[in-house]
Amino acid sequence: MTASKRKKLLAGNWKMNMRLAEIEPFFTAFSAALRPGVSNHVDILFAAPFTQLHATLAATRARGFAAAAQNMHFEASGAFTGEVSAMMLTDIGIRTTLVGHSERRQYFAETDDSVAKKTITAISNAVTPVVCVGETLEERKSGATFQVVSHQLGAVLNALKNHGPVQNREGFYPGDLSDSIVIAYEPVWAIGTGLSATLEQAQEVHGFIRKVCDEILGSEFAVRARILYGGSANPANIAGLLSQPDIDGGLVGGASLKAADFAAMCNAAMS
Ligand code: PEP
Repeated sequence: MTASKRKKLLAGNWKMNMRLAEIEPFFTAFSAALRPGVSNHVDILFAAPFTQLHATLAATRARGFAAAAQNMHFEASGAFTGEVSAMMLTDIGIRTTLVGHSERRQYFAETDDSVAKKTITAISNAVTPVVCVGETLEERKSGATFQVVSHQLGAVLNALKNHGPVQNREGFYPGDLSDSIVIAYEPVWAIGTGLSATLEQAQEVHGFIRKVCDEILGSEFAVRARILYGGSANPANIAGLLSQPDIDGGLVGGASLKAADFAAMCNAAMS
């Protein structure tokens, strides 16, 4: 599969933003700024806080976009106060979640092990995990970028490899695992800083990620898997990023809160 055959995915990460009253006005403005037909060519996703998922789901469904969670627990149920399971997400119709976002790793003790467990639980429940990996500034400066990324990604892909085929409750075996997982490369130093990776830096790591995918899960997976870039992506730099051979979309924080900016980015993904 060539890069052009991988459908582009633009995913907004609203983080802990967007009050209920803001959701409909956001989507009215977003839809108005979107070029006709974009959502037929580009997958458009919004990762919202748990309490806003119902409203986000209703607003996105009506318009041909999708809603995602920002996190989930790897256990099915139990004494995990404050957590939400994959089944609870599917109960309300959510079929995608972020997993291992750097803010979860940094502030909420998310580890490679928990990210791997969440990935398997998500896929087992027919929820697509958007698995986030990326190095800190110190790690980049010390030349450890590839080591960090391969360690984070390796934990997930090796867990999947060791687990074998995953059967979810709809009886669906993801024979083609590449449709059941999305990878996001998010250099931590670029998130929310206004300092995006250069096109060369981003493509270099994306190419490396595809190589790691190939080594662990084989060439078919590597060629088909979608790899998003995240870290201060905006309307001015998105076209360049998306023109790179191994960048299949964006995970967008700050700019996804501005309807016109995010619509411009989705428009750019179609051209
Ligand atoms: C993110 O939170 O995943 C992100 C990429 O944020 P920002 O676009 O604001 O850097």
